[in-house]
Amino acid sequence: MQLVPFAETESDRLAALCALDILDTPADPAFDNLTRLAADLFDAPIALVTLVDSERHWFKSRHGLSVVQTPRDGAFCSRVVDSSAMLVVEDALADPRFARHALVVNEPKLRFYAGAPLRSEDGHVLGTLCVIDRAPRTFDAHARTRLGLLATQAEHLLRLHRRSAQLAEETRKTLAGKARYQALVESAAAGIVRIDGLGRVREVNRYVEQMLGYTSDELVGHNVRMLMPQRWAVGHDDYLAAYIRSGEARVIGKGREVQALHRDGYAVPVQLAVSEVTPEGASAGGEAEEREFIGILTDLRDINAVRQRQAREHALLKVLHRGLTDYHALISQNTLWTFLKQALRQLTGSQYALIGEVVPHDGSKALRIRAITDLSWSDESRALMKRLSSGDMMLTNPESMLGRVFAGGKVVLSNDMAKDPRGGRLPPGHPALERYLGVPIIDRGEVIGMYAIANADTPYDDALVAWLEPFTSTCALLINLYRQLDAQRRFTEELRIARDQAERASQAKTEFLSSMSHELRTPLNAILGFAQLLQSGRQPLSERQARQAEHIVRSGRHLLNLINEVLDLARIESGHMQVSLEPIGLGELIAETADSIRPLAEQQGITLNLPGVQVCASAVLADYTRLRQVLINLLSNAIKYNRPQGAVWLSCEPRGARLRISVRDNGIGIAPGKLDQLFQPFNRLGAEAGSIEGTGVGLALTRKLVQLMQGEIGVSSVPGEGSEFWFELPLAGARVVAPVEAPAAPVRTTADACHRILCIEDNPANQRLMSDVFEEIGGCELNCVPSAELGIELASSAPPHLILMDIDLPGMSGFQAQRILARNPLTAHVPVLAVSAGASAGDIRRAREAGFVDYLTKPLDLPAFVARVRQILEAGETSK
Ligand code: ADP
Repeated sequence: MQLVPFAETESDRLAALCALDILDTPADPAFDNLTRLAADLFDAPIALVTLVDSERHWFKSRHGLSVVQTPRDGAFCSRVVDSSAMLVVEDALADPRFARHALVVNEPKLRFYAGAPLRSEDGHVLGTLCVIDRAPRTFDAHARTRLGLLATQAEHLLRLHRRSAQLAEETRKTLAGKARYQALVESAAAGIVRIDGLGRVREVNRYVEQMLGYTSDELVGHNVRMLMPQRWAVGHDDYLAAYIRSGEARVIGKGREVQALHRDGYAVPVQLAVSEVTPEGASAGGEAEEREFIGILTDLRDINAVRQRQAREHALLKVLHRGLTDYHALISQNTLWTFLKQALRQLTGSQYALIGEVVPHDGSKALRIRAITDLSWSDESRALMKRLSSGDMMLTNPESMLGRVFAGGKVVLSNDMAKDPRGGRLPPGHPALERYLGVPIIDRGEVIGMYAIANADTPYDDALVAWLEPFTSTCALLINLYRQLDAQRRFTEELRIARDQAERASQAKTEFLSSMSHELRTPLNAILGFAQLLQSGRQPLSERQARQAEHIVRSGRHLLNLINEVLDLARIESGHMQVSLEPIGLGELIAETADSIRPLAEQQGITLNLPGVQVCASAVLADYTRLRQVLINLLSNAIKYNRPQGAVWLSCEPRGARLRISVRDNGIGIAPGKLDQLFQPFNRLGAEAGSIEGTGVGLALTRKLVQLMQGEIGVSSVPGEGSEFWFELPLAGARVVAPVEAPAAPVRTTADACHRILCIEDNPANQRLMSDVFEEIGGCELNCVPSAELGIELASSAPPHLILMDIDLPGMSGFQAQRILARNPLTAHVPVLAVSAGASAGDIRRAREAGFVDYLTKPLDLPAFVARVRQILEAGETSK
């Protein structure tokens, strides 16, 4: 059998059929009534509403047929669809198109078929309304018209089916949407309030009920103002009206943080987002009653709590960070305690705070308050506060609210101080304390401090104590640092005081020594001077007198030596001795020193074995004068403590970067047990009992001088065999300073010339000495005055050839007098020679700077003095 080809629009037709959404739907009485009516009307056993699907005929209604569907075979209904026209087959067996069709040959043995097309609204033939008989029959035009009318009814039913299916779908969707909305609103984790344009609440969800404490019934129908604090509620109606009028929104369509009012009267922070409900397809507008707004309120309490927690953590971290990084500045600027107190108040939101250090007191513990919030209320309490915060006052009561913390080492917490039995009574006027928290600051098991806070907005609890733990530990650390730095500061201060005292003592010692030396030198000058005059006088002395004079001179020199050495030692000890280190050629220095020491050696019968200049050609870094002093000391000792016909050897030997200079003798030697007493000032190791003159200061001074020149000194000795003293000094480079040869004094007699000499001297013995000296010299007219004032007067009226000026005079000093003489044109040219008992380096330097021609120290070396006077007078002669 050949199948009828599908029309070109078959796919559109099938789409239209599909859109009906009717295939395989259950039986519908409306269609069934129609097929029954058709069967009745045409008196046919079978009537069908057939829908022609792509592969089958599906019967929406079948009267007189049991099968639900038959394959699409191109016959009968398919032909109606393909031809889009009614088909009437009065006798199938007689019609060659259908005579062999299965439905004709087999059951239901169809002989008659009349089918009218069923069209969709857009004209596609979707199926048929057909009547079928098992016997052939005629089907006139009238019957055809009636079948057509019935088919039109079937088409209406098809459209009705479609619409009701659409309606059902829409209803389903609406219901689903509504259910979704309800679910959303009810389960939302935010408050939802729907209001109309007059501000009346239409709906609230459960969240609003929980958040604001109202039931839905208490809110619906009432103005939404009741959910707002006063400041927002007053303007809300006007705002809504203005928005409805102008469309200008402050909140609607936006969101902002506001406060909602709880039924119990407190404010709840919320984020409010309001949007207007615009029905689908409609634009906003219309009467206020018809407008709708939905407000979504997000509870910010949790978020704010988190924010606050974060802020507190941040503040705590900041405090800890500053405390640990800035501690030095905080402690040294004395702001540590105030900083900690302030931090405490801020971190805990407390009105009052104090922090203190625990100190031992009478065998128990006391609290020294380091910083405290001022809570004074009267003059008396202000004074107390001042004492407390200055750390002046100790708190000792272990039973007080503070004492339980600093003495008991316990956290004390009370949120109702008025009723707390531990609290005690506050003095009248004292600000009320409601809440109190005291925390001990513990370091390695010991309470070293405490802090206390009072009157926070919220109650204190153990969680706060735990949260403050890092702060408390930092306080412990800072208190320890504070104590360490304080101890260090006190130690440094004590050191400074001790150093100042030592410096003052040293200064006093230096001053004492220098004045002592001055006081001793003045009479010594007279003693030595007269003795020398006696020795060199015109009248010869008897042998006995000469011996006595010699004794006076020797003892005087000994005393002078002692004074000089003691003074040097004192200067070194007080740090006032300066050395100027420069390269010194040792060969020349040894030769020069030997010249001055040789007379002593000859006198004692000791052989001096000195190296030639070439042997000791090295140069050392040393102070010329002081090195000479060291050599003289060691050589003179080697000579003094020798044996008859003994010998002394001097040698030089480089040792690394140093030169070792040794002075060896084969004298009496030193007992090993006494070696460690060498170099002690005034310790003569028993020699004071013997006849060898000495002071016991020489070696002590020698060692100090060597050390001052960055050298080292040592000794080895065998009693009865001799000693070897050595010292080492740094070797210098090649440059060597040659000792300056003192110019030989011109020896010219001035005996015949008459020179006027003015001597300003207050000591009568020294005045007499001078007049004796000038008598010996001859050719001079000496005039002595006891004060500078008299001297200046005399010099101005008759300028002398030379002025001998003592420095330490009653009234005006020699220095002041020199300045006046130098400024006076009458006396400016007169040479002034300072003759003073002050022998310090400073005195000599000042004298040179002041313009004296020279500065000679008492006791005078008379030959040297005479030579210098002659030299000055002769220089004056030549300059005339
Ligand atoms: P002084 O020679 O004025 O007594 P010193 O300080 O120079 O003082 O010497 C201290 C002591 O050391 C001397 O008194 C002497 O007993 C001892 N002494 C110093 N040099 C020698 C030496 N070369 N041989 C033996 N004893 C010496």
